[in-house]
Amino acid sequence: MRIKCVVSAVLSVLLLLSCSGNDPLPLHKSSRLLMGTLVDVAVIGEEERAKAATESIFNEIKRIENLTSFYNPSELTKINDNSGKGPTKASGELLGIIGEALRIARLTGGAFDPTVGALSRLWQFSGPGEPHLPPESEIKEALTKVGWNRVRIDTEAETILLPDAGMALDLGGIAKGYTLNRIAEILSKWGITSALVNIGGDILAAGEKQPGKPWLVGVEDPRNPRGIVAVAPLKDRIIVTSGDYERFFTKDEKRYHHIIDPRSGYPSDKLRSVTIVGPIGGTLQPAGTATFVLGVEEGLKFIRTVEGTQALLIDAEGNAHLSEGAGAVFETK
Ligand code: ADP
Ligand code: MG
Repeated sequence: MRIKCVVSAVLSVLLLLSCSGNDPLPLHKSSRLLMGTLVDVAVIGEEERAKAATESIFNEIKRIENLTSFYNPSELTKINDNSGKGPTKASGELLGIIGEALRIARLTGGAFDPTVGALSRLWQFSGPGEPHLPPESEIKEALTKVGWNRVRIDTEAETILLPDAGMALDLGGIAKGYTLNRIAEILSKWGITSALVNIGGDILAAGEKQPGKPWLVGVEDPRNPRGIVAVAPLKDRIIVTSGDYERFFTKDEKRYHHIIDPRSGYPSDKLRSVTIVGPIGGTLQPAGTATFVLGVEEGLKFIRTVEGTQALLIDAEGNAHLSEGAGAVFETK
C-alpha cells in the first residue's frame, strides 16, 4: 500500500512532465529507493555532467539518511539510544537540523514536534513493524516522553540532551526538505540550472523545464490517486505535501495515518492534505506538517508568517482552501 501510494504521487508529476511539450534539451532521468521512499531525479543538461550531478545527488541523500534515519542506525539513533543517560556528542550539521526543527516547534506551539519519536515507535507507520492502533495506555505513556522544550542543545560542546529515557527525536518531518535545499546547492556546483528532484512527493523544481516553460507539478487528490486537484507551474521553487493518504491504515472504517498530533498522540484528522510552495532554502516541509496538524484556520494563520510561501489545504470534507496569493500559484481543477 505504501509503495503504491508513493508511486502514484510520483506518477502524477511525471505525467505532467511528459505532457509539457517537445523538449529540445536532453533530460536525464533516474530513480532510487532512499529515505524509505522513491526518489526521482530529472536533470537537464549535457549527458556526462547530468549523470555526474545525479550521482552526487543520490550520494547526498544517502549521506543525510545516515545522519537522520530514525530506524536504521544513524547519528540520530545514537542520540535516541542515549536518552535519559546524559548529553550525546553530535555533528554541527545534525544539531543544526534539530535546532531548526525545535524552532518550528516553538513557532507552532508544538503542532510540529520532533520529539514525537516515542509515538512514532508505537504507531510504526514508517518502521519495520506493521502499522497498528496502539492501546490507549501506551499512547498516554508515550505522551509523557514528548516535549520539544525539554531538549537541550549545547552548540559549543556540540552535544544534545534528551533528559528522559524513552524520549526520541523523529526527523521524518524535516529531513526531506533539508535534503532538497542541499541538492539545490549541489546542482549549482555542477552548473545545472534545470532539474526536478522528487523525494517521495516533496519536490525541488530548479530553474525551468525550458526557457519560459516552468516545471508543472500536480497536486494529488487525497481520495483519488489517479486524480489531481491542482497544477502548480514552478520555477526555482520547492513544493511539499503532507497528506493522510501516503501512509495509513483503516480500522472500523476510521483512517489512521502518519501525521500525529503531538498533543493527543493520535493522527490529526482536521485535514486531508496540505501542499506548500515556497522559496529554495526555506524550511517548508515542517511548515506543511505543522499546518496539517493546525487545521484550516490556525494553519492559514501560521502560513502567513512563513515568508514567500503559498498553501493549498484540503479539509476533512474535501474542500480546498488557499492561503493569500496562492491562487496565482495553484491552478485548481
Ligand atoms: P511525508 O513525509 O509523508 O511527506 P510530512 O512531511 O508531513 O509527510 O512528514 C511526516 C513525518 O513526520 C512522519 O512520517 C513522522 O516521521 C514525522 N511526524 C509525524 N507527525 C509529526 C509532528 N506532529 N511533528 C513533527 N514530525 C512529525
Ligand atoms: Mg511531505
